[in-house]
Amino acid sequence: LPLDELIAALSVDVLDFPAPGIVFRDLTPVFADGPAFRRVVEGLASAAAADPRAAALASSGDGAHAGFDVVVGVEARGFLLAAAVALDAGVGVVPVRKAGKLPRERVSASYDLEYGSATLELHTDSITPGQRVLVVDDVLATGGTLAAAIGLVEELGGVVTAVSVIAELVDLGGRQVIAPHTVHALWTT
Ligand code: 5GP
Repeated sequence: LPLDELIAALSVDVLDFPAPGIVFRDLTPVFADGPAFRRVVEGLASAAAADPRAAALASSGDGAHAGFDVVVGVEARGFLLAAAVALDAGVGVVPVRKAGKLPRERVSASYDLEYGSATLELHTDSITPGQRVLVVDDVLATGGTLAAAIGLVEELGGVVTAVSVIAELVDLGGRQVIAPHTVHALWTT
């Protein structure tokens, strides 16, 4: 089965979650399926290898992947993905966390969600200037979350060479919000 069809088959649409009128795409069955999870992790990493800017920039560390030096994952489902991608690529993983979770000096960004608002934070010393960064999350919806995460990485001088998600909810227009960064989605729906 092509990966997008496999993701579509495993994902579950949940009506009225977390609020009335919202259709939530639950991807936890994709994570729970071993072969699907492996293909997803490989697919998320492949976006960065294809980015011409990633190849143009010098790699900054031993074992660095062809397209990125570190993987940033957005709390919380992004953590599951980022750790797996980073381990597979031989690079480190850095968490973008919800407000109040990171203990040391940090940068913050607040933004509107599809439902409600949120603040994300990143440790100031977790990204070094010029470092090539792959940013991953499970779903691109309105784009606010990834735009905030990308902004935090760039505030610290990181170079976002790729942004990858499992699923892009096309009607919510997140791709336009992330521009000029391009989003690599394994499944568009
Ligand atoms: P955005 O900021 O793009 O509107 O929302 C993206 C964030 O909300 C992501 O961190 C994602 O995990 C979560 N999210 C929004 N809608 C959905 C959805 O339908 N399914 C899942 N699994 N996550 C969603």
